[in-house]
Amino acid sequence: MENCLFCKIIKGEIPCTKMYEDKNMIVIKDIDPKAKNHFLAIPKSHFKLLADMTEEQSEMLRQCFLTIPKLQKELQLENGYRLVINQGDDAGQTVFHLHIHILSGQKMGWTPA
Ligand code: AMP
Ligand code: ZN
Repeated sequence: MENCLFCKIIKGEIPCTKMYEDKNMIVIKDIDPKAKNHFLAIPKSHFKLLADMTEEQSEMLRQCFLTIPKLQKELQLENGYRLVINQGDDAGQTVFHLHIHILSGQKMGWTPA
């Protein structure tokens, strides 16, 4: 997808701190962390919303969810973690390539705003 930040990161055209990569996804450090540890798991196929997802992309996303818990050590998930997927304006989605925020390394509260 042209002009998509995360597609460019996946292609290696924009630098990132890469924590993990396989055929389905890359996991990078978020450039502006909102928790002690903040990573982004980015499926390699471009789509914006769960509502736009094809069957093939849903299988890719399933593989992402299966892999994340296996990265306990690399991502410091041992004490628990939070996954967030922002969808659209009200959620504050700013990059329109679906991604899973992985937050860990601290106790987290619960505030929608
Ligand atoms: P969202 O607001 O859910 O679309 O999340 C986009 C995330 O991408 C934000 O947490 C940003 O801090 C993060 N981000 C933006 N640009 C970069 C970048 N170049 N490398 C890593 N993370 C980024
Ligand atoms: Zn993209």
